[in-house]
Amino acid sequence: MDICVALGGNPNAGKTTLFNALTGSRQHVGNYPGVTVDRKEGRYVQNGHDMHIVDLPGTYSLTAYSVEEVVARDFLVNECPQVTINIVDASNLERNLYLTIQFLELGIPTCVALNMIDVARSRGIEVDHQKLTRLLGVPVIPIVARSGLGKQALMDAVARVAEAPRPQPLRVSYGRDLETAIQEMEPLISENAFLTAFYPTRWIALKYLENDAQILEKGRSTDRAVSDQLEAVTRKVSAHIEETLETYPEAMIADHRYGFISSLLKQGILKEYHDRNRLFLSDRIDKVLVNRFAGPLIMFGVLFALYQFVFTYSEVPVGWCETFFEWLADTISGQLADGLLKSLIVSGIIDGVGGVLGFVPLILFMFFGIAILEDSGYLARVAFMLDRVFQMFGLHGSSVMAYIVSGGIAGGCAVPGVMATRTLRSPKERIATLLTAPFMNCGAKLPVFALLIAAFFPAHQARMMFILTLISWSGALLAAKFLRLTVVKGPSTPFVMELPPYRLPTFRGLMIHTWERTWQYVKKAGTVILGISVLLWAAMTFPRMPDGQIETYAAQRSQIIAAAPAAAVAELEQPLGDSPLSSDAARLKSELLVVQGRQSAEALRHSLAGRIGSTLEVVSRWAGFDWRTNIALLGGFAAKEVIVSTLGTAYSLGDVDAQGGDSLSARLVAEPGWRVLTAWSVIIFVMFYAPCFITVVCISRESSWRWGLFSMVFNTSLAFLLAVGIYQVGSALGY
Ligand code: GDP
Ligand code: MG
Repeated sequence: MDICVALGGNPNAGKTTLFNALTGSRQHVGNYPGVTVDRKEGRYVQNGHDMHIVDLPGTYSLTAYSVEEVVARDFLVNECPQVTINIVDASNLERNLYLTIQFLELGIPTCVALNMIDVARSRGIEVDHQKLTRLLGVPVIPIVARSGLGKQALMDAVARVAEAPRPQPLRVSYGRDLETAIQEMEPLISENAFLTAFYPTRWIALKYLENDAQILEKGRSTDRAVSDQLEAVTRKVSAHIEETLETYPEAMIADHRYGFISSLLKQGILKEYHDRNRLFLSDRIDKVLVNRFAGPLIMFGVLFALYQFVFTYSEVPVGWCETFFEWLADTISGQLADGLLKSLIVSGIIDGVGGVLGFVPLILFMFFGIAILEDSGYLARVAFMLDRVFQMFGLHGSSVMAYIVSGGIAGGCAVPGVMATRTLRSPKERIATLLTAPFMNCGAKLPVFALLIAAFFPAHQARMMFILTLISWSGALLAAKFLRLTVVKGPSTPFVMELPPYRLPTFRGLMIHTWERTWQYVKKAGTVILGISVLLWAAMTFPRMPDGQIETYAAQRSQIIAAAPAAAVAELEQPLGDSPLSSDAARLKSELLVVQGRQSAEALRHSLAGRIGSTLEVVSRWAGFDWRTNIALLGGFAAKEVIVSTLGTAYSLGDVDAQGGDSLSARLVAEPGWRVLTAWSVIIFVMFYAPCFITVVCISRESSWRWGLFSMVFNTSLAFLLAVGIYQVGSALGY
C-alpha cells in the first residue's frame, strides 16, 4: 500500500531525527514551490508498509503568520496526505499540544508521536499516553526518535489511521461571544460552499476571527460578497470583545486552546506536573476552587450568595415596577369608558405584559451576577466540576455548558443551550442533552417562579430559588439517565473542558453583558409576548356571554341599588377625596363587586380559552390546576413568559375585585383555589413541561422533528406526573 504521510510538529520536536530513523537512506531534499523552504521526502518500507513521507517545516501554529506555517498548511490541504504524524515533545507537552489541537481542528487524519519520553522521564514527568489517546480521539504512540524506540508501533498506528474513515474536526468551544459569531458565520459559509472544498466550515470561520491573512485573501478572491459579510461579523465581534473584555479574538482563541490543553492535562495525563506557564496563578486558584472537597461546597455557596443578592436587592425595584403598572392600570381604567378597548388595554396589555416587565429588575440583577461568574472564568470551573457528575448520568462534559446556557444557574435560554450541544460528538449523548437542557430554569420561567415565590414563600426567596435550581438539575440528570438507559442507549465518550485563565471582569464589560441580555428580555416582552398576550386576551374575551345573561347581571345590580339607602348610593356615585366610605356605602360597594365578579368569571368561562381551560380541568384537577391556570399553562407552550402574562390577564378579567389595582401575587394569595401546595405543583409543572415553541423548533432542527415531538410529549407527561404526585401526596398529608 502506498500512502502519503506528512510529518509535522514544533521546531526541535525531533522531526528530522524521526524522519531519518524512518527513511534511512531513501530520501531526497527539494524545495517547496516558490519558497526557499526545504522539502524533504523519503520512503518507509518495512513490515509490509510502503509509505511516502514528507517532512513539513517546523511550526508552532497553523495560522498564516510565517512562511513555514503557510507551507505546512498548504501541503496538508492541497496535497491531502492520508495521515499526518504530529510529533510532540513529551517534555514540553503543553506547548506542543497547541499545534496538535490545530491539526485536529482542521479535521485531518492524525497520529501523535509522543517523542522524547526519555527526556521527559529524566525530568520526572510521566505521560499517560493511553488516556491522552482517549481524550484526543487519535492514537498517541510514545517513541524515542533518536534510538528508534516505538517506531514500528507508530507506523502500525499510522496504517490504521489511513484505513479509518476521515475524522470529524475537533470542536474547541471559544466562549459565548466568539461562538455566537461562529454560529452566525457557519451558515453563510456552508450555504455558499465558501472555500468548503478545502477546509471545514467552522475552521474557516475561526480563521476569519483570527484574521488569517491567507484565508482572507483567498476568501476575497473567491466570493467577495460572502467574504465581506464574514469580515463584518469579525469586526463586530472584535469591537464587542475589545469593549467588554479588553482583548481581541485571536488572543481569546489562543486562551481557549490553552485552556483546553490545560484541563486536558489536569485529567491525570501528567504525573508529576510542574506548571511553569502563564496560567500559573489560575492554577493556584484552581487548587482551591476546583478542589475535590472544597470545590463543590464553594460552588453551592456562590450559587446561594447569588440568589441572596438577587432577591434581596431586586425586591425594592420590583416593588416600584409593580406600583407603576398598578398606577398605570388604575389611571387608564379611570380615563376609558367600560368596554372592549379598556379591557384590551388594561387586562390584556398592562396586566399581561406589565406582569412580565415587572420582573425586569430581578432579571437584570440575575444577569449581572451571572456576568460576573462568566467573565471571571468561574463558570468554566463549575462546568469542570460538574463534568464528573455528568458522566455518571450518561451525559458528556460538554453537556454542562449546554445546561448552564439554558439557565442552569437561572436566567438563560434553552435556544442557545440547544445550539451549544453541537460541541457534542456522540449523537446519543447529544440527544439526551438536547432533551433535558430545557428543564433548566430559563429566563422565561424565572418570572413565573419569582411570582409564585413572592406570593407563597415571601420569607425564603433565595432559599426557594436555590432549592428550585437543585430540583431542576436533579430532574434533568435523572431524566437524562432514564433516556440513556432506554431510548438513547450507548457508551459514554471522553471529554476535555476548556479552562481559560481567571481574569478580573471589567465594570464596563459587566454592564454591557448585563444590559444586552436584559434588553433581549424587554424586547421579547414588548414584541412576541405582547402579540401572544393580545391573542390570548381575545381568546379569553370571545365569544362573549349572550346578551340575556348580561342583562340578568345588570338587573341584579339594579335590585341591589334599589334596595340600598339612597344616601349610600349617592355617596358611591360621587366619591369625594380619600375619606372612608360610610358603612352602608361600603356594604353596597362590596355587594355590587360580588355581582361584578361573578359576571366577569362567567364571561371568562364562556370564552374560547375559558372553555378549553374548563374542559381540561377534568384532568388538571389531579394536579390542582384550576381552569384559569390551565389557560396560562397552555399559553406557556408558546413562550413561558406568557404564563405570567396570561395569569395576569385571566385573573384580571375574571377578577372579583373589578376595580383592579391589586398585584397578581396578591390576587393569587387571595384566590381560594391557590395555596402553597398548588404553587409547588405549578412550579414543578412549569419547570418540566414541554419546551417553548421556539426551543422545540430548534430541537427539531438540531436532530429531527421526531425528537422535537418527543420532547413535547415526554416532558409534558413527566411534568404532569410529578405535579399530580406532589399535589396528591401533599393533599393526603393535609397541606
Ligand atoms: P526538528 O527541528 O523537529 O527537525 O528536530 P530535530 O530532529 O533536529 O531534533 C532536535 C534535537 O532533539 C536533536 O538534537 C535531536 O538529537 C534531539 N532528539 C530528537 N529526538 C530525541 C529523543 O527521542 N530523545 C532525545 N533525548 N533527543 C532527541
Ligand atoms: Mg528539522
